[in-house]
Amino acid sequence: MNIVGIVGAGQMGAGIAQVAAQAGVTVLLSDVSEEVAAKGKAGIAKQLGRLVEKEKITAEARDAAVGLIRPVGALDAMADADIIIEAATEREPVKRTIFEAIGKVLGPDAILASNTSSISITRLAQAAPDPERFIGMHFFNPVPLMPLLELIRGLGTGDRAVAVAEAFGKRVGKTTIVAADRPGFVVNRILLPLINEACFAAGEGLASIPDIDAGMKLGAGHPMGPLTLADLIGLDTCLEILRVFQADFGDPKYRPAPILLKLVEAGWLGRKSKRGFYDYSGDTPVPVAI
Ligand code: NAD
Repeated sequence: MNIVGIVGAGQMGAGIAQVAAQAGVTVLLSDVSEEVAAKGKAGIAKQLGRLVEKEKITAEARDAAVGLIRPVGALDAMADADIIIEAATEREPVKRTIFEAIGKVLGPDAILASNTSSISITRLAQAAPDPERFIGMHFFNPVPLMPLLELIRGLGTGDRAVAVAEAFGKRVGKTTIVAADRPGFVVNRILLPLINEACFAAGEGLASIPDIDAGMKLGAGHPMGPLTLADLIGLDTCLEILRVFQADFGDPKYRPAPILLKLVEAGWLGRKSKRGFYDYSGDTPVPVAI
C-alpha cells in the first residue's frame, strides 16, 4: 500500500494525512478546491513542526512526511490510489456526491472508505462504485494521538476490504476494532448520548460549564470533560450525529439538546471556530455565557 487518497482536509482528513505520511505513505489530499487542500497541508506541516520543537521527531522526518503530501484539486488525481478515505463534512448528500465522483476514478483493486461518525455504511455503499470494496474506517480526533481505528463492515463489505483497512490501520500505528453497521457504531453510540446529556445539563443550568466538565473528570475518571470533548469533536459534527441517531433509530431519546442547536446556529462550533462551550481565543479556554 503506497498511495492513499484523502477527500476532506479538515480536522480529520488532515490528521489521517499526517499519520499516513509519517508512515511513509504518499498522500493525495483533496478538499473543495486545491487551495483548501493546500491549507490543510500547511496545517499538517505546522503540527509536524511542533513535534520537531518538542524533539519528538527530527526535522528530516518532518520534511520527509511533508514531502509525501500532495494537495490535489480534482479527484481524477486519485486514480493511482490503493485506498481512498473520505473525511468530508458529516452530511450524507455531500458524501454521496463524493462517492459518485470517485466511482469514475477508483482503481480496479482499490478500496474506498468513509470516516463517517454515524451514517450507515450499507446505505453509503449504494453511492459507492463497488459495495464489496467499501468500508467504514472511523478514526478518532486528534488522529495522531488517538490509538483507535474502528472498522465498520457494511452488509456488502468484502473480506479483502476489511483486510486492507486493517493493514492500513496497522501501518499508521492504530489498534483496530470491528463494529457492526448500526448508527454511531460502538464508540459514538455510547459517547454521543453522554455528550448530549451534558449539553442538556449545561442548558438547564444544572451546573456551570467548567463544573460539569470537572464533575465528569474527577467523579467519573474521564480524561476530559464532555463539553470540552464536544468542542474538540466540533458541535456541528455532534449535532449531525445525533440527527442521524434520531432519524435512523426513530427514537426521540436522541433529540439534540436545544443549547447544542443554538451554539451551532451561532456558528460557535467548538475549537475549530475558536468558540463553542468555551472561548479559545486566549491562552486558556474561558467558558462562554449561555
Ligand atoms: P471538518 O469540518 O474539520 O472538515 C470537513 C472538511 O470537508 C472541510 O475541510 C470541508 O471543506 C470538506 N468538504 C466539504 N465538502 C466537501 C466536498 N464536496 N469535497 C471535498 N471536501 C469537502 O470536519 P471533521 O471533523 O474533519 O469531520 C470530517 C468527517 O470525519 C465527518 O464525517 C465526521 O463525522 C468524521 N469524524 C469526525 C471526528 C471528530 O472528532 N471531529 C471524529 C471521527 C470522525
